[in-house]
Amino acid sequence: MSEKIITANRPLTCDLCGHTIPQGSKCRLIRDDFMPSLIYFEHLNCPSGPAVAQQNHIPNKPVINNRQPLPALA
Ligand SMILES: [Zn+2]
Repeated sequence: MSEKIITANRPLTCDLCGHTIPQGSKCRLIRDDFMPSLIYFEHLNCPSGPAVAQQNHIPNKPVINNRQPLPALA
């Protein structure tokens, strides 16, 4: 499988949710390496796609806010 981000040159149908990808918007093109005639289109942020499919998503760094005070030495 190879995937590429393309700009839709015509209204496409998302293969994950079945809704229309409007012309001119960016979407993901997925092609099967062994059967190049199989091409799938997906929204970049498809409402029915997995959460990990988000583009350019940088998770917040964890904040350690339950630090214990240093133990008293005396
Ligand atoms: Zn979709």
